[in-house]
Amino acid sequence: MNLTVNSFQTITTDAAYLLTDSRQISFPSQSIFFAIKGDRHDGHQFLPALYASGVREFVVEEAAYTEMLRWETAVWDDARIWVVPSSIRALQSLVAEKRRQFNLPVVGIAGSNGKTIVKEWLVQLASPRETIVASPKSYNSQIGVPLSVWNIGKQHTLGIFEAGISRSHEMEYLQPVMQPTIGIFTNIGPAHDDGFKSRKQKITEKLRLFTKVKKLIYRKDYTELDEEINLILKPVNTFLKTLSWGKPASGADIAVSYQKEKIKTAISLVGKFGDQKFETNFTDEASLENLTHCIVFLLDFGFPSSVIQEGIRLLKPVSMRLELKEGINHNYIIDDAYNNDLQGLSMALNFLSQQEQRQKRTVILSDVLQTGQTPGELYRTVAKLLKEKAIDQLIGIGPEIQGQAAAFDITRTHFYSDTATFLQDFPFNSLYDSLVLIKGARPFSFEKIVQRLQQKAHGTVFEINLDALSHNLNFYRSKVGSKTKVMAMVKAFAYGTGSSEVASLLQFHRVDYLGVAYADEGVVLRQSGITLPIMVMNATSQAFDLLLQYQLEPEIYSHRIFTEWIAFVNKNKLTAEIPAIHLKLDTGMHRLGFVKDDLDWMIETLKANPHIKVASIFSHLVGADEGVHNAFSKQQFELFQEGAARIEQALGYTTIKHILNSAGIVRFPDYKLDMVRLGIGLYGVEATGQEQQALQSVGTLKTVVSQIKYLSAGETVGYSRRGHLDHDAAIATLAIGYADGYDRGLGNGAGKIWVNGLLCPTIGNICMDMTMIDVTGANVNEGDEVIVFGKEMPILELSKQINTIPYEILTGIGDRVKRVFYKE
Ligand SMILES: *Cc1c(COP(=O)(O)O)cnc(C)c1O
Repeated sequence: MNLTVNSFQTITTDAAYLLTDSRQISFPSQSIFFAIKGDRHDGHQFLPALYASGVREFVVEEAAYTEMLRWETAVWDDARIWVVPSSIRALQSLVAEKRRQFNLPVVGIAGSNGKTIVKEWLVQLASPRETIVASPKSYNSQIGVPLSVWNIGKQHTLGIFEAGISRSHEMEYLQPVMQPTIGIFTNIGPAHDDGFKSRKQKITEKLRLFTKVKKLIYRKDYTELDEEINLILKPVNTFLKTLSWGKPASGADIAVSYQKEKIKTAISLVGKFGDQKFETNFTDEASLENLTHCIVFLLDFGFPSSVIQEGIRLLKPVSMRLELKEGINHNYIIDDAYNNDLQGLSMALNFLSQQEQRQKRTVILSDVLQTGQTPGELYRTVAKLLKEKAIDQLIGIGPEIQGQAAAFDITRTHFYSDTATFLQDFPFNSLYDSLVLIKGARPFSFEKIVQRLQQKAHGTVFEINLDALSHNLNFYRSKVGSKTKVMAMVKAFAYGTGSSEVASLLQFHRVDYLGVAYADEGVVLRQSGITLPIMVMNATSQAFDLLLQYQLEPEIYSHRIFTEWIAFVNKNKLTAEIPAIHLKLDTGMHRLGFVKDDLDWMIETLKANPHIKVASIFSHLVGADEGVHNAFSKQQFELFQEGAARIEQALGYTTIKHILNSAGIVRFPDYKLDMVRLGIGLYGVEATGQEQQALQSVGTLKTVVSQIKYLSAGETVGYSRRGHLDHDAAIATLAIGYADGYDRGLGNGAGKIWVNGLLCPTIGNICMDMTMIDVTGANVNEGDEVIVFGKEMPILELSKQINTIPYEILTGIGDRVKRVFYKE
């Protein structure tokens, strides 16, 4: 398709792919790159690398297109570069222009919650009869919406997209990109977000998506929403027909009531479509609301009730999680067994190629559904994608992919007609030491393959939300700005979360440095493919060989260690590349580091050994987390500045200087210098307590209920009869004990566990592998998952229960607890 857009500059492109993130590149020669400059990230930086990898079309922003870049790009004779005021606006206009060329019903979904679920369910429910193009995952932002809408093709009969906004005026830009013909307003949350003056304003802003729709579906029980639609939207959109639903007394077009039983709900609708009844296994309010939106839409769209009911029966909770976990045979598996369309596949392959844990890459792939392309065309594209991502082995499952076996030019391929045959015939022993992506559309039941390949976890798992980790990194990056480097601290197994997985993610996000405590930790990172510079804080002379072999950079903190290092360097300098060092100044911590009086000696020694390169000079604040120490922190900073200046003067070159940890970044933005060392904040704990709400919870420690007992008052529970019951009680035994990191101090009521919404106290002593809690009054069954800490029970709360800090809880989680990494 050839598109022309007039927004100050005319963009005419045949590109098939829009690229906004230089790391997500698949087909360089068919991509147009939009360089976006944000607070913490500047896409313009990557122009040369993208050019080198084959991209030839670029949209750049006037303000960020520096002399230097102009000069550098001037010699790219075969490239096309458009200079625009804003790349995001240019991207939106380009997609809006494409959207105008298609005439199909498009559902636009807005609202505070449930957008993604309503969208996913509508896709599931409508797909038997329609060829649908929809937003992947929750692509609903200023960039996500255009990227989603770009996928519209001639074959599609229905579009379903969601739009989320965080500030005024954003929706105005999304409306022309999406041009929805039908709107669904899911709901409106009680709070107003930071970006809006009031709840009313938030509603009005969201309604801007619907200024041209012919129909709007919403829930009349939200009275403010109802008012704004009548007052603001209707006068602007005179063709609008509303279709409202709500509680029987709400006066809506359709009166909806729910009759809940223990494991299912009967939904009855009375009004516009006569009397309709549906049944679902969902019982919670949010799911019922989301589902009702879907039912109303489908009835109005002409779906027979029987087809809707059948769809509801097959409906699955929306889990868009893509999980990364250890598998059998030393494999590492990526479980994305939830859908399989081209865009989802391309995202999963990108995620696969970010992982450094194993060298070999295998993809287990089902038929790709719903593209509307001919199988020949489709699998040629799939084959190209796999080739781009250097896949070693493909296992294709399904009649279509099997029929296109010849399209794949990959060293090893196997094809099976269905999942059962694969499970029966595949020689599982031949799959080892590999990263395995399992990507299948729902009907192929790939969860069975996941079950076969994953390592069995004992009841307790530590789940790490990689998106939350990225969010937290970005929060700190936006605090320090793009000119200050970030060293991410991944010591102690990345604060208990898992070092190589977290380091892979950090490498993908291009942090500048990693910090570990011991050489061995650095070696593990190198062995799992991490190429970032790594500082080792506590290297002993016995480990110097490892430092050399794996190019790890030691912290030099004393007369003794410096002397040993120099001797080692002098022995090896002719034959090996010597890593640079990091000088640690003790400005008040009194742990490791040179004090002021050591500086003369240190400076003389540096001058005498000019072949030793100093990468950085740093110190550590003792009390950045607490305001009472502010004066001391200032003194430390000044002492550090003074010392660092003297050293640099003697060296004759400047080094990276750094003093702030996570708490320091929040409390002392003026001390950020050239680099900051980010630790606990990355893992979701804001140590000063001032900005906790800006971070997302990263780790969730979960376990399961092994047994429930009903005991009478007077009986005792656990070792030494310490748990005395003063009431008749339901007691649950959990599969977690102090060996898993559930501290023994949490026994006898000190600790509380989240059980389906209720906090239940421990009873009796904590055992090595088990814990008993009082679940009287809780809604719980044997086998249920319960939460030790996570969003529902903040780790800070848990640590307060035993007078410690989140650092100790995190790093105390036992080795035998399986780590599962996921992306939403
Ligand atoms: C662990 C550590 C950090 C990170 O501290 P957080 O409080 O986790 O941010 C920074 N610097 C040094 C020297 C450390 O040992």
